[in-house]
Amino acid sequence: MSLESATRIALIYPELLGTYGDGGNATVLAQRLRWRGLPVEVVGVPAGEPVPGGCDIYLLGGGEDEPQVLAAEGLRRNSAIAQAVAQGAVVLAVCAGYQVIGTSFPAGEGQVHDGLGLVDVETRRSFDPPDHPVPPRAVGDIVVEPAPELALPLLLGYENHGGRTRRLPGGHGRPLGLVRKGIGNGTPERTDGIVDGHVIGTYLHGPVLAQNPALADLLLSWVHGRLPELAGPPETEVLRQARLHALDVHA
Ligand code: GLN
Repeated sequence: MSLESATRIALIYPELLGTYGDGGNATVLAQRLRWRGLPVEVVGVPAGEPVPGGCDIYLLGGGEDEPQVLAAEGLRRNSAIAQAVAQGAVVLAVCAGYQVIGTSFPAGEGQVHDGLGLVDVETRRSFDPPDHPVPPRAVGDIVVEPAPELALPLLLGYENHGGRTRRLPGGHGRPLGLVRKGIGNGTPERTDGIVDGHVIGTYLHGPVLAQNPALADLLLSWVHGRLPELAGPPETEVLRQARLHALDVHA
């Protein structure tokens, strides 16, 4: 098959947004395409390089506060991702990446930094009045019951973030799902993430697509339409069930 027909997966700024291993999401998507005999090209986009247009899937991972600001500044220099999204490209943005694709996020003492505004969410240390203490960092396992229309099994992962994220009033999109264990967006509705068209933001590390292959296949179906089922690897389901059992979460 020609390279032109390969699915192009852009892994954005792995040096800045790679702290939590989310680059594994590119590996999972690529492998699930190869297992189906479909050609794939993973396009690493080093920090400082322009983001290429014309990719099918854009992946942004988690990172620490300062690298996250650098990533947002780099990404705001061109509108390649926004243009690709307008043409139907898929985006999966995790934690810092999720905060960056929103409208704004915290950046140091009382400062707020502009995001890309790809999705209608905003992130702060806390949404409580100033006399409330800032909530503790959300660290640990997270289990999310996906929105029913996604037709996915429970989503498993881990989270590690200080930010709390809420949807803008009247904004587009819906939460990725309801938090059954953990913090997620950290708002009273107990939701995690956002889905708006083919753009997903979430707090789940794992990498999320390794722990949740059905979510990987949902993203691939947005590019390719319905794909043939994949049998393996069976270990994934064994490990998923073991985690759910250990966390006392039932499907
Ligand atoms: N720096 C962000 C926060 O602490 C994101 C952390 C992450 O990506 N895990 O909220």
